[in-house]
Amino acid sequence: MLDTWTLLIIDDCAADRKIYRRYLLKDPHQSYQILEADCAEEGLALCQKVRCDVILLDFCLPDMSGLELFDRIQQEIFKTSIPVIMLTGRGDEEIAVQVMKRGALDYLVKQNLTQDVLQLAVRNAIKQSCLQAQLIKTQERQRLIATTALRIRQSLNLEQILNTAVAEVQQLLKCDRVMVYQFAPDTNGKIVASSVESYRTVALCDRVGIGEQGSRGAEEQRSREEVAVGVSPVPLRPCAPLPLVPNSPSPIPYIYELGLCNCVSLKEQFNTKANLVVPINLSNNGNPTPKLWGLLIAHHNSGERHWQTDDAEMLNEVSVQLAIAIQQAELLAQTQAALAKEKQLNVFKSQIITTVSHEYRTPLTSILAAASTLVKHRQQLDESKQQRFLGIIEQKARYMSKLVDNMLLVNQLELEKPKFKPISVNLLQFFSDLVEQERETVGDRHELIFKITGNHHGFWGDRGLLQQIFINLMSNAIKYSPDGGSIEFHLIGKESEAIFYIKDRGIGIPMADQENLFQSFSRGSNVDTIPGTGLGLAIAKACVELHSGNITLSSEVGQGTKVTVSLPKICPTGQLSPSST
Ligand code: ATP
Ligand code: MG
Repeated sequence: MLDTWTLLIIDDCAADRKIYRRYLLKDPHQSYQILEADCAEEGLALCQKVRCDVILLDFCLPDMSGLELFDRIQQEIFKTSIPVIMLTGRGDEEIAVQVMKRGALDYLVKQNLTQDVLQLAVRNAIKQSCLQAQLIKTQERQRLIATTALRIRQSLNLEQILNTAVAEVQQLLKCDRVMVYQFAPDTNGKIVASSVESYRTVALCDRVGIGEQGSRGAEEQRSREEVAVGVSPVPLRPCAPLPLVPNSPSPIPYIYELGLCNCVSLKEQFNTKANLVVPINLSNNGNPTPKLWGLLIAHHNSGERHWQTDDAEMLNEVSVQLAIAIQQAELLAQTQAALAKEKQLNVFKSQIITTVSHEYRTPLTSILAAASTLVKHRQQLDESKQQRFLGIIEQKARYMSKLVDNMLLVNQLELEKPKFKPISVNLLQFFSDLVEQERETVGDRHELIFKITGNHHGFWGDRGLLQQIFINLMSNAIKYSPDGGSIEFHLIGKESEAIFYIKDRGIGIPMADQENLFQSFSRGSNVDTIPGTGLGLAIAKACVELHSGNITLSSEVGQGTKVTVSLPKICPTGQLSPSST
């Protein structure tokens, strides 16, 4: 069916009007509703009443010149210009040129007017006016997008960026709801911003093959979507280029749907009838295939909504701006994290320098004194005294070596976050060996009691980290019980976790010191001359955390200390360990 255009003929000659009407109604390409006026005043009145698409204006009118009427139509009455074709007599071409300069679309010499000429002139005028309207609309859209982009990119905070984008899109598209859905590294993503508060935490499980976009065939993706939703999905196709058809509200042929809109769970959760979904693609380090970060979704559920090409284009353009803003925010976050790490490293380095200068000086002085005594007075010293000096040198050198080892280990645990490599561990065997090893080094004054109860099977852990935890805790229990006594090591195996207690009857820890002991270089105020670097508990805690476990300490000065470690039996892949084996 042809579009019908409204055309107004302003001419005082009834016979001419009749001819023009006849010519135009014969146009096979266009259909017209034709209005007529025989003077300028009547023409103006009609223009005010009816929205005309084209005006055929006679230059000579009884009450006003065509030129004057043209000015009034353009300036006084309408804000948007109506295409006007001027009708002049032979010899009036100069005047016609004047009118064209003022903005008339065309002029026709009445005496030369044929059916074809008139039809073509009117058709061209309509076409030109449509293109002009489209241009104005595009410019207006560009202006809106530019303002939106400015607002979105004003912040470098991701949450703020997303919330602004959501609010802006809702304004631009005048829709019920706008959301940003972010893909996670695993298969599920979540809604990270929404114009409706209560939807903020909804997680969707409908990411079917999206992560592998490009690498997986569209066919496979389609069939998976069909399985997921039970309806034929819209094929995956890019948004651009969209056809531009002036003046015709065209439903959108291509948008990224990605199975999201058709997902039953989504529909139920959002009660959504109309969705417009575009991807948020981040540039991928020079890689031509962009990184699909998430989706920008516009919903409409109050009444029917047929999304227009314009809507999709606008959403797409906002998504491009949003992607830039997200990338900037991510870059800033990465830089800030690197800066924080650098700061942490600097603090750690200065702590190392302080510790080295404090902790190294005393043992080094002892080593130097013992060594120079041996060098200078070896002849005068008997065998046992020589042995004592050599013993001092060995003990202090060992201490210094342990200090270096511990500092390197803390550095690695705190800053580099080593990989946790769990294997199945036989706890009975592991701890029997460990306790036996400790027994060999402690003197007679200490009694090591090892108890194991419950189900100790099915434990997964990193042997190296486990050794760090328990050697440190046991050596503390022994070291801070200078008067000797029993040290209990108790392992209780539960269904999903293993709990360890290490209990001594040593010097205990003052309440005020207990809070900070798990931080590097922290020591109790009552250690007196007991050597130590204040790194053992920090190492133990970091290793426990890599196991996703927990470590706590309770102590009373003069009574003793009990450290409790609980480690889950679940291995980190989320797979339950075979606890019954
Ligand atoms: P090292 O790095 O050689 O282990 P350290 O033993 O001083 O040195 P941590 O093991 O981190 O360092 O312990 C920190 C502090 O906690 C100790 O200096 C001590 O004051 C206190 N502490 C830890 N365990 C015990 C315990 N079983 N009894 C009493 N005090 C303890
Ligand atoms: Mg220690």
